[in-house]
Amino acid sequence: MQKRVIGVLTLDATRPAAFSDEELNLLTRFAASAALIIENARLFEDARRRVQELTAVHRTGQDLLHLRTPEELAQHLVHILENMLGYDYGGVLLIDPSRGVLTPFAVINQDREIEIMAADEAHLAARETQIGQGITGWVAQHGQSVRLDDAPADPRYFALWENNRSELCVPIRVGDAVLGVINVESPRPAAYSENDQRVLETVAAQIGVAIQNARLYQQAQQEIAERKRAEAALIESEHRYRSLFEGVPIGLYRTTPDGRILAANLALAEMLGYADPGALLEVNAADLFLDPDRRVRQKARLAQENVIRQDEIQLRRRDGRIIWARDTAHAVRDEVDGIHFAEGSLEDITERKRAADEIRQLNAVLEQRVAERTAELSEAATRLQDANERLKELDQLKSQFIANVSHELRTPLTNIKTHLHLLERGKPERHAHYMTTLQSETDHLARLIADLLDISWLDQGTNRINLTDVDVNRVMVTLVDAREVLIRQAGLTLEVLPQPQLPPALADTNRLMQVLTNLIANAVNYTPTGGSIILSSALQQKDGRPWVTLTVGDTGPGIIPEDQAHIFERFYRGAAARQRNVPGTGLGLAICREIMQRQGGQITLASQVGQGSAFTVWLPPAGAVAGQG
Ligand code: ADP
Repeated sequence: MQKRVIGVLTLDATRPAAFSDEELNLLTRFAASAALIIENARLFEDARRRVQELTAVHRTGQDLLHLRTPEELAQHLVHILENMLGYDYGGVLLIDPSRGVLTPFAVINQDREIEIMAADEAHLAARETQIGQGITGWVAQHGQSVRLDDAPADPRYFALWENNRSELCVPIRVGDAVLGVINVESPRPAAYSENDQRVLETVAAQIGVAIQNARLYQQAQQEIAERKRAEAALIESEHRYRSLFEGVPIGLYRTTPDGRILAANLALAEMLGYADPGALLEVNAADLFLDPDRRVRQKARLAQENVIRQDEIQLRRRDGRIIWARDTAHAVRDEVDGIHFAEGSLEDITERKRAADEIRQLNAVLEQRVAERTAELSEAATRLQDANERLKELDQLKSQFIANVSHELRTPLTNIKTHLHLLERGKPERHAHYMTTLQSETDHLARLIADLLDISWLDQGTNRINLTDVDVNRVMVTLVDAREVLIRQAGLTLEVLPQPQLPPALADTNRLMQVLTNLIANAVNYTPTGGSIILSSALQQKDGRPWVTLTVGDTGPGIIPEDQAHIFERFYRGAAARQRNVPGTGLGLAICREIMQRQGGQITLASQVGQGSAFTVWLPPAGAVAGQG
């Protein structure tokens, strides 16, 4: 054990040689005992202080564990520096890594004039230190403690206050990272022991952990606050979306590919006849489609093109009614699964569609009417054209007729003129012959004029047709009575074959007589002597209806086929007329046909060359008048 002098023990006396060797010896031993006692007392005091310090350090650590915010921590650190360590000046400075400076976090000085808390930002900013500057800056940079007995003598020293003599600065670190420093200063030289340094380093380590905790806590608090804000914003936006989703008058939905309805709004539920959207979620979307293939096609299009635009579909309501809806949807894709679901809107267009259908039908009706009118017009145009053609034909016929008439009139007139001249100048013995010729030409002229007048009346339509019920058999008998003599004179026999119980015909009696007179005259004219004329009546079917008929037949030469096609034309005279030199105009049969047509009847011919001819007139029975024009 090293001997060390810790003090002196003196005894003074007024008399000389007052102390003996024995007494010196005794005092020396006493001094040794006193030294031992004093040393023990010091050691005890030292140990007691250590225990106090360790207890304080331990308590500090415990206390720091519970501190959460930097403000709480700063306040507590001030108390540690002040009470526990009892330093004259102390401060905790933290590194602001973004600006490379040390910022005072908690500071106390011996006069307690300034007690700075973390919140006093303006003051703190004024006392900032650059990293690397002064003792605190050096410790912050190197992460090592500095203990100076004579601080102003150190080249790194940078005076912040004048009275400073000794300084102890320890880094606050967590692992390898330096968070800041604890710095204490004293106006006394060599104020800090090695032990003080250890205590402060221990406290600094605890403070480091506490600061780290506080920072993490603050960060966590911020994150929680931010998350809460985000959640609130989300709830707000969800709320807005909800009210929009529920409120719009258009049906909105979200479905999965297998037909589950994940969401539907009130408008859609109402459109489909459900009490609320919840009831609709129970239904499979596929069951709503009238045509299931339609949904299959929609799914295919969504998979291919991602959208369906204004697809018009038919849906079945809950009450079974079918509605038309316009569907617009888009696919919401999941990178992994492909289509996740489809979102879309449905608009009820049933009414619109019905109106459109009505318009379409109306259009169709209108179009048909227009087509009908057009057809009618074109028919009328055709008729008009036909009438025009007919008028042209008639005009030509008229010109032809006038030419024919002039020609037909000229021949007998020339003959008459010639024979009148001969009567005057010719041989007297030929007078009788001339007179006969004059007679016959005059007759011919008279017949021609009579026929022409008939034709002209018929053409003008001035001669009225007076239709009445006519007993055809009676007409036949009347005619026969008047012509019988004439027929017998011509050397012909007459046969009359009336059909018994013949219904009356609808005809103009006088006109009918005119026709029959003409036919009988022809038969007499063209049938050679010895032949016979047969008159008969009958009820016959033709063109699907009954007719009362009257036939004038003869056993004459008959009419050759070429003539048959033309004998009803005006001025046409056939082979028989030429061969037998029968006087005539070629107008008789034309007049007959015209009269028959005016009465709603017909005239036909049946003839075989060498055997005879039979002309038949057809009249509608009187009872069948209705509907015949
Ligand atoms: P027309 O007797 O004045 O010549 P019609 O019009 O009466 O004129 O007769 C036209 C033509 O029909 C006659 O020219 C004649 O060739 C022919 N025809 C008319 N009736 C008979 C008849 N009963 N037998 C033979 N030919 C007839």
